[in-house]
Amino acid sequence: MANLTPKSKDPSQWFTDIMQQAELADIRYNIKGFLVYQPWAVDTMEIMYDFIEADLNERGHKKYWFPALIPEKNFNIESDHVEGFTPQVFWVESAGADKLEERYALRPTSETAFYSMFSLWLRSYKDLPFRTYQRANVFRYETKATRPFLRTREFFWIETHCAFPDEVSAFQNILDDLKSTEKIIGNVFGIPTITFKRPKWDTFAGADSTYAADAVLFNGKVIQLPSTHMLGTNFSKPFGVKFQDKDEQEKFAYLTCYGPCVSRIYAAMVLTHGDDKGMKLPFELAPTQVIIVPILAEKEPKVLVEAKKIAEELKKNGIRVQIDSSDKRAGEKFYFWEMKGVPIRIELGPKDLEAKKVVLVRRDEGKKKDVSIEHLGTIASKNNFVEEIKKEGLLLSKALKDSAITAFKNMIVDAKTLPEIKKLISTNIIRTPFCSAGHEGAECAQIVEKDLGSTIRGTRIDVKEKPAHSDKCPFCGKEANEIVYIAKQY
Ligand SMILES: [Zn+2]
Repeated sequence: MANLTPKSKDPSQWFTDIMQQAELADIRYNIKGFLVYQPWAVDTMEIMYDFIEADLNERGHKKYWFPALIPEKNFNIESDHVEGFTPQVFWVESAGADKLEERYALRPTSETAFYSMFSLWLRSYKDLPFRTYQRANVFRYETKATRPFLRTREFFWIETHCAFPDEVSAFQNILDDLKSTEKIIGNVFGIPTITFKRPKWDTFAGADSTYAADAVLFNGKVIQLPSTHMLGTNFSKPFGVKFQDKDEQEKFAYLTCYGPCVSRIYAAMVLTHGDDKGMKLPFELAPTQVIIVPILAEKEPKVLVEAKKIAEELKKNGIRVQIDSSDKRAGEKFYFWEMKGVPIRIELGPKDLEAKKVVLVRRDEGKKKDVSIEHLGTIASKNNFVEEIKKEGLLLSKALKDSAITAFKNMIVDAKTLPEIKKLISTNIIRTPFCSAGHEGAECAQIVEKDLGSTIRGTRIDVKEKPAHSDKCPFCGKEANEIVYIAKQY
């Protein structure tokens, strides 16, 4: 039996172990920072894509597939963007035996691809709002240490690119992006986040302002999940994304972009819910929602026959189910599927068969519970057995979410002085008064980075928070104008 480091002891090592033992990704591919994602992870990430895309479709986004290569001349059009991304670009410089006349960037993000086409497509106010997205892999030459799923040189995300006639409707779209984050990543995936307006010095290259949701991985260490950016007219001017407005004036469109990174959200989900025994997958996300373990089936072939009937009944009702009829011992099977995070286990042995029931065990509770299969295959079963399984699955999802929220809330603490912050920062997110999240605060932000190894995450936008009159910035002693959050980034 494999040996899993307890998450409570060393969550980082636990994540490495789980990646190997649950077969989420193989890191032995021979380019640094590139992984082979394996079926147990890919299946769930596909489901995550489906949830996010269904929501975008509902909000009126249309799906595109853009080329992975961006000509250098497009890439160079917006100067802040170039400066921000150039150090991270992989360039394609030759093809076959030819050196190319112009280099192509392997997309690190696709603003400069989309907006060059927007300038051809958008003509009139009637074309707006214009909402697009694509599901794509993007490439960034990370020079910091790479970490599977969390910081890699190729990652899998969705990027949305939208155009609006004015700033107000563009900003409304940003608020809607943040609502989507809460609705899907928070409510369905069960990952709690707080939403910030990033400080000026931490704004996306080429954006007027950046908004982002941070999740906590463990010990107060945060990770950015989606961010959404107000690009204003910074890209539409150089790219010529113009439209004729109702007043017949030609105007530049306001652009926004939003980027949920599915491979990273997946890792956050695994780290949020897992425990010492392994993964715990929300019912909605599990590739296998129910694992059936037949007991003593070699002696009683009827057990396997019945197990197949149960699986059939569940499948018919849209539940993803597998039977583990391998020749491992039952205990080993239990351990394995618990480690993989399967939400519900059904045990079925000769005695259960006689009593016309199965034993159900939920991954989060670990308690055994009898469920009747007396009416299997009949209408009565549909109302009882299948509904019972679905009900337990959804209860599990809710329990995972509730416990994640509690842990998350407990990690947010208030501190107003430097000694207090120093004492608490290693395991918490600190809420503190601060001089300014504008350019003036950049020096204090550097102190936070150098002395505390932490970053200013920003100011809340979902709730209004104001410092008291007497509050001072703990780093420069000047009057505090905002409440910010400080945390270590994973
Ligand atoms: Zn300050």
